[in-house]
Amino acid sequence: MDNIKPVAGRDYPATWSEFQDWFASDEACAAYLEQLRWPHGFCCPVCGVSDTPGRATRGRLICRACRHQCSVTAGTIFDKTRTPLPVWFAAAWYLTSQKQGVSALGLQRVLGLNSYQTAWAILHRFRRAMVRPDRDLLSGTVEVDEAYLALRRGARVRRKAASSKARDRTHLVAIAVAIEVLEPKGFGRIRLRRIQAPTIDALIPFVRENVEPGATVRTDGSPIYRPLLKAGFDHDPFVILGSQTPAHRPLPGVHRIASLLKRWLLGTHHGAVDPRHVDYYLDEFTFRFNRRTSRSRGMLFYRLIQQSTIATPVTYADIRDNQHRPQA
Ligand SMILES: [Zn+2]
Repeated sequence: MDNIKPVAGRDYPATWSEFQDWFASDEACAAYLEQLRWPHGFCCPVCGVSDTPGRATRGRLICRACRHQCSVTAGTIFDKTRTPLPVWFAAAWYLTSQKQGVSALGLQRVLGLNSYQTAWAILHRFRRAMVRPDRDLLSGTVEVDEAYLALRRGARVRRKAASSKARDRTHLVAIAVAIEVLEPKGFGRIRLRRIQAPTIDALIPFVRENVEPGATVRTDGSPIYRPLLKAGFDHDPFVILGSQTPAHRPLPGVHRIASLLKRWLLGTHHGAVDPRHVDYYLDEFTFRFNRRTSRSRGMLFYRLIQQSTIATPVTYADIRDNQHRPQA
């Protein structure tokens, strides 16, 4: 389905007013989800038969072969949530049309939601749909390095427990950053991941899982990266000739990503990101950065809803306890 280029005004709304026309009701949103989930027509999740489904009450689909009944949201991130689909869609639109995204508090305000937790969980469910497990690996010349983020627990938690000094503590979180370097200038796609510490055990698997074999990996010369050559990468470490000591080399791409990421976490999220959930913020940053050249913001909305129909459903407790982190 990635082969056919989606068109504004046909495949996704071009403007907010078009959005409101398209997605005014639960039924309209469900029909849109059905189209994205089964672009070649309904396929029964139980028996796998493709046939035009029967229709039951409350928008349920009935497989003509095995009589299985399901809703279009079953098995997606929208599964078993009490939030109406138009609210989900409005959240997706807002999340993707704002250049810097939105905090849970901001989303709660703009959608007039009763609870902060609802807004928080909507954002986290969408974040879990932002990274496709089958995405392409980075290629060409790729800068790789580690960086540190200073995070603290959520501001709301802090207000409630103002006396608790422990909640105020800032956590330093190590992350691995990879970015494609384009010739003659500019940057391509990125990959980010939290790591326990900048060690060989964390960084080499990160490169293997995110960078195409044969790509040129550019590092700051740290000996940690030496096994890259054995792993089939063309390693370009920066070491001053005649010296065994690695020299510091600025990696402009990694540096740029780290500073944009820090600015985003401080700006949109006020640095109040629970370190346990940082992976999902990295996913959101990656989703937006890798689509920064999209001509239409509506295209991001389209991709987010499309990927939401194939992302694994999670419960509120899963999100809170950080369960089911898919391997990136
Ligand atoms: Zn069936």
